[in-house]
Formats: sequence, structure tokens, C-alpha cells
Amino acid sequence: MSMPESPPDRATLIASLRDYVEQIREEGLEGLEGRDGIATAKTPIAAARATASARTSVAPPPAATTPSPPVAAYLYPRLEQTADLAALREFIGECTRCKLAPKRTNIVFGVGNPKAELMFVGEAPGADEDSRGEPFVGRAGQLLTDIIERGMGMTRAEVYICNVIKCRPPENRNPEGDEVAACEPFLLRQIDLVRPRVIVGLGTFAVQAVLKLKTPISKLRGVWHEVRGIKMMPTFHPAYLLRNPGEKRAVWADIQEVMKVLGRPIPQRGGRG
Ligand code: URA
Repeated sequence: MSMPESPPDRATLIASLRDYVEQIREEGLEGLEGRDGIATAKTPIAAARATASARTSVAPPPAATTPSPPVAAYLYPRLEQTADLAALREFIGECTRCKLAPKRTNIVFGVGNPKAELMFVGEAPGADEDSRGEPFVGRAGQLLTDIIERGMGMTRAEVYICNVIKCRPPENRNPEGDEVAACEPFLLRQIDLVRPRVIVGLGTFAVQAVLKLKTPISKLRGVWHEVRGIKMMPTFHPAYLLRNPGEKRAVWADIQEVMKVLGRPIPQRGGRG
């Protein structure tokens, strides 16, 4: 007779629930399909396959054109007058414009080449970024660095990296609407000042915030969009890749599209591992 399985302990249950919620958050509710009133989760692989086959059989839709209005002129009237990134950083100052301010250690403004051809935009700083004041320096950041260096044959110093939100949300919770509203004008000004040729949007939150869409990242990725007159390629967030390494293949496909537009050679070993 087989022994009955002991139920998972509380910590294991909470960890797997948290993983599941993060997965839904990354993929969007598209991953949940109701059948006979019961919600069933598509596996990420099945969802990716479905998306990939749809993508190969249908020509990508034309990029959405986003006009480039002055950046939140009503909110920060002098923001438009910041002439470069240093002036923008000075404008932001020791920001207290939203409720994230009291809990942060450092404002995480952005790093890299102020005239970069390529810009990466993530969601918000995590604990490592908050303590160092630099975006993407934790585990997800290491993976992003690998994508840039081993995958693309570029350096971190050559590109520009920043986030939609400049201060860490407590416990890494999702940024809230008022926080996005307060901080997003700074990202838009960063985009206007750097004027990269291509932006790579990392993950659901950053892409949906910038494109003002609610479409799941699994639908948006791999298709060119446009932000303030600049081509934008949405792809999965590196933190999502750490949990779903099978999706690295999709990200590598997106990165190759970016390389083509930049007219850069694709290194042989890129995309592996
Ligand atoms: N995740 C992000 O979106 N941004 C960071 O800077 C680090 C992790």
C-alpha cells in the first residue's frame, strides 16, 4: 500500500502561489482559460507555442504610432527645459513626488551611454538596485548583462538602461497608478534626451505602461511598436526568464530582430544557455 502524500507545508504553498501569481502577472490573464466555469492555466510553453505559431503564420501588424506630446507639461512645466540627462537628474532631485519616497534608499535614475543607440526599459528597482542606486544589478540584472554582452556582443556602458519607476516599491509590489503618473514623465524625458534608435521594453509592466496597453506581453513581444517616434521591441523580463528558462529562445528571437535593425552582427554563441 502506498503511503499517503503529506500535504505541502505553508511556506511551500505560499512560494508556489507567489510563483503562480507572478507568472500570471508576466503573461497576462490570457494564460487563464475558463472552461465550464473552471479556470485552467495554460503552461507557459503551450502559450508560447500558440503565440509563436500565430506569429509565424501572420505578418506582424504595422507598428502603432504614438505621437510625441510635450512630457507632462501640466505636471512638471519645466521638465522640457532639461537639456541633458544630468540636468534631468538634477530636476528630479531628492524626489518626494510620490509615496515611494520615504521607503527608498536611492533613486535609481539610469545608467549607460547618454547617446546610446539602444535603450532597455524595465519596471522598477528591486532591493539590489535600491541599495546600489543602479538599475539591473541583481540576479535579473546579471541575466540582462549576459544578454547584452554574450548575446549581443555589446557592453553595458554602450547601451542605456533605466526603469519606468525610479524608486523601489516596498516588497517589490507592483507600482501603483499614482506612482507611475508621477514618475513616467521622467522616463519619457530620458527617451527624448537619449533618442536611441531602438528601445527594448522588458516585461509586462514596463511595456504596458509605456504603450498604454493592457495586452499581455506574450502577444506584444516579437512585434515592433513605436514610442515617441522610436522603434520599440517588447520582450520578456529577465526575472521571468530566471523562472522560465525555456522562454530564452523567444527573447533571443526578439533580440535578433533588434540587432538586424541596428545593423549589428549576431555573435555565434548568442542565445545559448
Ligand atoms: N527589475 C527591473 O525591472 N528593474 C531593475 O532595475 C531591476 C529588476
